[in-house]
Amino acid sequence: MANGQHLGTVDWSPSTASLHARCPRRFFYRNAESVDDSGATDNNTSANQIQSPGAKIGSVVHECIDRQIDRWRRNERTSLQTAQATATEKLQSYVTANATMLQDRFADSPDEFDEAEIARSLIRTAHTHLETFFQVIWPQLKNQQYIMHEDTRSFSLSGGTVWVRPDLCTRTSEGEFVVTDWKTGTPDSFSDASLQVQTYALWAHREYEPELTRIRVQLVYTRRGEFDRYRPDAEMLESVIDRIQSDLEKWSPEAVKSAFPTLPESNKCQSCPYLQWCEDGQEIVSE
Ligand code: SF4
Repeated sequence: MANGQHLGTVDWSPSTASLHARCPRRFFYRNAESVDDSGATDNNTSANQIQSPGAKIGSVVHECIDRQIDRWRRNERTSLQTAQATATEKLQSYVTANATMLQDRFADSPDEFDEAEIARSLIRTAHTHLETFFQVIWPQLKNQQYIMHEDTRSFSLSGGTVWVRPDLCTRTSEGEFVVTDWKTGTPDSFSDASLQVQTYALWAHREYEPELTRIRVQLVYTRRGEFDRYRPDAEMLESVIDRIQSDLEKWSPEAVKSAFPTLPESNKCQSCPYLQWCEDGQEIVSE
């Protein structure tokens, strides 16, 4: 990694802010604009990483739900069976394409590795999430009016750009604007769910609904079908505006690596794609 490298312009999103909170140095490596000494960009390093089985299940479940909501938007029938068939196909391809990585992860020797059983296990998990979605969650949403889904939107704040990507936005028959986000995992102690909720609330208030009492933001967990519902107030919006402004000040395009300290912890650093450049991370992993 070249010394003296600048951060460059970084837009704000809840996930980018969470990455910065988790480890400022990793945030810097992920976003710095120039090329490292070996010629590989930070973005390429991330793209070359193979998704873990858990992350793959999450992205497949999201994609299958997304496709069915697209049918609902066009007044076509949604189908749990079709969603599950898509999940089966995608996860089977993933296991076949990544057999070596999965063998390293799940078996001590090639003899112990059962590719078909791994595929069955991932597919079973994805099917359970989809069943919960269509049997428990979807009946509570399908009678609302469609506004948008899986669409990336932005707005300006304090000279910066803020991005959101809600899974679904609807209006209830009472006129409430509802932002819904699916979660396939259990809440992660590193991710800041409330920050995501607050940002959706701010975006909805600016772009769709000036009356705060008519906005609802909800996180829906596809593992068990629970809803976490939030009703934003002025204090919530002020808090997220302060957070965005404070982050954007720290993320000056001219800021250099030393402004982004390492925050090493063994479990974080082991899976960090920038470990090769980070002495503090290497030290804690070797311990
Ligand atoms: S290896 Fe650890 S300390 Fe270093 S950048 Fe990655 S997460 Fe941060």
